Amino acid sequence: MLRQYELVDIVKSYDPEADEDALNRAYVFAMKKHGAQLRASGDPYYSHPVEVAGILTKFKLDSASIIAGLLHDTVEDTDTTIDEIRSLFGDQVAQLVDGLTKLAMIELKSKNDKQAENFRKLLLAMSEDIRVLLIKLADRLHNMRTLHFLQKPEKRARIARETLDIYAPLAERIGMQEIKSELEEIAFAELHKEAHDSIVARLNFLREQDSNLVPNIIKQLEKDMEENGIHAVVSGREKTPYSIWRKMQMKNASFEQLSDIMAFRICVDDIAACYQALGVVHSKYHMVPRRFKDYISTPKPNGYQSIHTGVIGPENTRIEIQIRTFEMHEVGEKGVAAHWAYKQGQRADGKHYRWIRELLEILEQASNPEEFLENTKLEMYNDQVFCFTPKGDLIGLPAHSTPVDFAYAVHSSVGDTCVGAKINGEIRPLRTVLKNGDQVEILTSKAQHPSTEWERFVVTGKAKAAIRRYVRTYKRDQFIVLGKEILEKLFKGESLEFSEKSLVNVLPTFEADSIDDIYAKVGEGLVSGWDVLKAIYPAYKQSKIEKVVDKVPVLKKVMRKAKKSEPLKIKGLIPGMAVHFAGCCHPLPGDRIVGIVTTGKGVAVHTIDCPTLERYSDEPERWLDIAWGEEAENEVHTGRLKVMLANEPGALAELSNLIARAGANISNLNIVNRTVGYFEILLDIDVKDLKHLTDIMSALKSAKEISYVSRTNK
Ligand code: MN
Repeated sequence: MLRQYELVDIVKSYDPEADEDALNRAYVFAMKKHGAQLRASGDPYYSHPVEVAGILTKFKLDSASIIAGLLHDTVEDTDTTIDEIRSLFGDQVAQLVDGLTKLAMIELKSKNDKQAENFRKLLLAMSEDIRVLLIKLADRLHNMRTLHFLQKPEKRARIARETLDIYAPLAERIGMQEIKSELEEIAFAELHKEAHDSIVARLNFLREQDSNLVPNIIKQLEKDMEENGIHAVVSGREKTPYSIWRKMQMKNASFEQLSDIMAFRICVDDIAACYQALGVVHSKYHMVPRRFKDYISTPKPNGYQSIHTGVIGPENTRIEIQIRTFEMHEVGEKGVAAHWAYKQGQRADGKHYRWIRELLEILEQASNPEEFLENTKLEMYNDQVFCFTPKGDLIGLPAHSTPVDFAYAVHSSVGDTCVGAKINGEIRPLRTVLKNGDQVEILTSKAQHPSTEWERFVVTGKAKAAIRRYVRTYKRDQFIVLGKEILEKLFKGESLEFSEKSLVNVLPTFEADSIDDIYAKVGEGLVSGWDVLKAIYPAYKQSKIEKVVDKVPVLKKVMRKAKKSEPLKIKGLIPGMAVHFAGCCHPLPGDRIVGIVTTGKGVAVHTIDCPTLERYSDEPERWLDIAWGEEAENEVHTGRLKVMLANEPGALAELSNLIARAGANISNLNIVNRTVGYFEILLDIDVKDLKHLTDIMSALKSAKEISYVSRTNK
């Protein structure tokens, strides 16, 4: 284990301005806090954070990272709080430790392979600072190095599996080849011990057979380059046992059949030289089919660039050759850590933030590097959010997604029937914005259907499309029902015969393909019932309509008609689709109501005394006699009250108490006027019906704090 002074010396050696005092304090703090805790190895627990800090010095990280490495398990495993760390070590260290503590709390429970990629993205999204991820990887690396101390084979296997699935790919993603390889080798040895041991034995055997093979091939390739005037550095190595095994699995091949136990690398000055070198290799050596890949013209998603080819090379040996520029090599091998090292000792005058720009390119090839320069946060998954199902599956969604988006992502039938959501065990509104790592349980009901309300807050295309599809289909169905009733009533009221056959004759007039089309147009208000009547009975139209308009005041006309025929029941029509309640008068079940057919929106329901109705007094064809259906009472309606409330302590509490006691909910409260003695308040209350609202009004009137209550349109 690194001693205190050794650690400080190493950090000072690459960063002379490192905060020596803070490093010392952090070392002692970790030692004290972990106290007598032991590792599975029998070592004191604090040896672990010290080793993690040691690994971080290999990447030449700044003192904040080293300190956070020392403290990374204190909040999770001891009584330490983030505030304590903030007061002792400052904001930056506290933020890093906080990030690490959060990462430690999420765990991938799902066995589903497809989940691994989402989980890696979640980790990336949660490590807002790249250093959190580097420390997390160092933490995992040390845990893997000491994996063999764990007693339970299942636990070792689980950790090894997780390392292969999550952490090795993460290391690769941020360009840390070295860590990636070490993590993979340890996990491989744990999970497939026999395969690992036999590959290692085979490699040893080959090495004993001809210890000069690799150096000889290097020499020959160097000579080839030189003879063709290409400046190049050639290196060679055996592939790692894990990568050999992976190839064997993938190609279903035996060890002997693999062409690339040995890989050679030719580094040259520029891209043109890469292709020259490739030409030399291919003209001199026999190519192995299907081994050629050009990652220079088409880089891998993590930014990796190189040309790969397989040949029967010098010494008549099948080898893999990678050709790349020195620059590509630097980025490919050292990744983020190299960039950090590069930054050390340099002034922050903008130009030296090149590493951040490069990192950005490696990670995401994002569009706006300037934005990234402003802070070193990992922003590539800030536009996404990852949440767990109760079973532990991860669902990736765009940022600002809600439980409704989540429900549709699970399955469209779940989305269509969702009525509520539990987020981390608590019931939350469907419009709640989800956060990374939330566990979301969707509550469903067969009686539910997609609501137009949802469209206002969902963000995923899937949810939007499903809601629109539903609304379109059902709206049309409802418009058809409505349109048919409107026509039947109109014709009956005018004592004219109504038949679908006569409608067929006027289809072209309304550019309709079917009778349903006409009904839908009438229901939606695009065509008035009178238009249809006029089309069918051209002789009837003018005189009669004008007579009605001229002589009968609108309200009386509506009343007269109501007697003549049963009013249209709005039951079975879904509010928000073909029918909506006017915002001006907030009709309640129990109110006398009237419908106004509104172009493109179906029917707006007003109370019969609503002043807005004046506006439609010269358009009688738009008026519709309607009544409440039986189901209206099961729905929630909004009633609006004006209340004068004494300006004194507890008055508002009394008001809300009275309303709550009546089983109603305040959905909106607005103080419109304020005097020394009184508040004038507008209240929107969710109630069942008119009686419910009048009951509440009498309860409010009896309160001494309330001097005036009335229903209002304003
Ligand atoms: Mn740890």
